[in-house]
Parts: sequence; C-alpha cells; structure tokens
Amino acid sequence: MRVAILSRNSKLYSTRRLVEAGTALGHEVDVIDTMHCYMDITSSKPSVRYKGKSLPKYDAVIPRIGASVTFYGTAVVRQFEMMGTFSINESVAISRSRDKLRSLQLLSRKGVGLPRTGFAHHPDNVTDLIKNVGGAPVVIKLLEGTQGIGVVLADTQKAAESIVEAFMGLKANILVQEYIKEAGGADIRCLVIGEKVVAAMKRQAAAGEFRSNLHRGGSAELVKLTPEERKTAVSAAKIMGLNMCGVDILRSNHGPVVMEVNSSPGLEGIEAATKKDVAKMVFEFIAKDAKPNKTKTKGK
Ligand code: ADP
Ligand code: GLU
Repeated sequence: MRVAILSRNSKLYSTRRLVEAGTALGHEVDVIDTMHCYMDITSSKPSVRYKGKSLPKYDAVIPRIGASVTFYGTAVVRQFEMMGTFSINESVAISRSRDKLRSLQLLSRKGVGLPRTGFAHHPDNVTDLIKNVGGAPVVIKLLEGTQGIGVVLADTQKAAESIVEAFMGLKANILVQEYIKEAGGADIRCLVIGEKVVAAMKRQAAAGEFRSNLHRGGSAELVKLTPEERKTAVSAAKIMGLNMCGVDILRSNHGPVVMEVNSSPGLEGIEAATKKDVAKMVFEFIAKDAKPNKTKTKGK
C-alpha cells in the first residue's frame, strides 16, 4: 500500500516510528507536511497539491494533526476524503475530539462514565454550577487547554468561584469538574485501535502535583485494565468515531470515568511503558481496513 503520514515534522518520534513500521511491513510511506499541502477543490476532481505537484493517489492517510492546527489540518484530511482516500481517523471525528465539551456531551448521551461536569456562560450561575458537580474541591479546565495547561484544582467553594469568575472575565470557556481525588494523581491512557485496547499505561503525577501529564513531570508504567475499563475505552472511541485514539480514564469510586479522547495520541510514552509495537498495529489495521471511499461520517 501507499500511505501518507500527515505530520508537520518527520523527526517526531511517532512519525518516525510509523515510517519505520510501515516500511518494514513492505508499504510505501511518505511523510507529508500538512501545513504545506494546498487544495484544489475543483468539481469532480478534487486533489491535494504539495510542492508544486498533485500528490499521488494514496491508499490511506494517517493524520497526526496538532491541536493548534486543527482547522487547517482537518481541511486537508477532508480533502483526502473527498478524493476517496481512507483516513485512519476521519476529519469530522478529529474536529469532534478537539472540542472537550462536545465530546463529553456525546459520551454522556451514551452513558459512558464521566466526571460530573458543568459548563456555564453567566457568572450568576457559578455558585450553583460548582455545587452541582459536588462542591469543592473541583477541577476547573480551560476548554482550549492541552498538556495539562489550564487545568486548575480549587480547594474551596470560594476559591473555585473566584477562579471561574476570573476565567469568565477573560472570556475563556471553562468546564467545572468533580475532582476525582481517589485517582491519587494517576490516570490511565488506553490506546485504542479499531475497537480494541492495544496498549495501556498508568501515568502518575509528580509529587505535589495532581496532573499526570508526562509534560508536567508525570511518569508512566504498564497497567492491567479491568474489563470495565477496556469496555469504557472502546465505547468512547466508537462514540467519537475514531479508529485510533488515546482514551484517558480516571479510576473513580463510581467506576472508570473518561476525561478525554485524543485523536493524535503520541506513541513514545506508550511504546516505552508497554514495550508494544503500536506503530505496527496501526499499519496492520490499515491493511485490513483501508478501502477506497470507506471514509464516511461515523460516530454519533
Ligand atoms: P489536558 O487535555 O490538558 O491534558 P486533562 O483534562 O487531561 O487536560 O487534565 C490533565 C491532568 O489532570 C489529567 O491527566 C489528570 O491527571 C488530572 N485531572 C484532570 N481532570 C481531573 C479530575 N476531574 N479529577 C482528578 N484529576 C484530574
Ligand atoms: N451525529 C452526531 C449527533 O447527532 C454528531 C455530533 C457531533 O459530532 O457533534 O449528535
């Protein structure tokens, strides 16, 4: 097969590993810089142009779209879809996953375990908003945050109210969430490929920190999932319509709760913690599943 990895940088670990694994399996793999693609949206013969030429017909694309370039990146993925190219994650599902609020709403409708979460616009509603998720301590999250930046723990009702009001004053969209204290600063990253959790790791926050992001000094180790956790991760991926994703789960005293679903999960941490060849599994999935014109709007 001929496969393109849509990535801004061929030196990134995940990109390198995907090239390595795909090539080892006998596929022809190109790395295409998403932000340098441009589009010909002509009727009946859409194409993607790159460095002055039309790109060849790929059997599949693997989008690695960073959060900061979601708008342009998903437009490029969509253009490949218009040409009938299979994308391991389709553009609609990537956009959906980039909106934490929309994702939680969709997951809630299907009964997936979630931390109690509130969202409001007007400061008048803040006191009740906080009480409604169980009262302080609560976690307050910037909707646009990544890598744990913009995730704040407020210990008291007063502190929570001040923080929420401050964010609202800055016109920032925020979620207020039940603090899952019993998770002990740990979360579980489940890597899902095609309705299966293929690797899972537990990330533990550094001492004195509740956020377990590796970028915030967290450490990772292999973890054994319960059947309920596995089921939660797989249904979250399915509801989001993502064939490949990282589902982040907290172990709460009311069962596993999904924090977020990441449509471009990094491979470095999870391959190191689990010693699994996740990149190879990506290509095995594509080889089995990539059919022309198979990309259609999935997820609900
Ligand atoms: P980001 O998308 O920026 O990584 P997350 O929502 O994943 O933000 O939060 C970052 C980290 O903070 C999580 O990995 C988790 O360890 C911790 N965390 C987030 N929400 C909660 C919560 N409701 N209860 C306890 N810990 C949380
Ligand atoms: N089909 C989904 C619905 O009916 C789409 C939702 C979305 O991605 O926001 O809600």
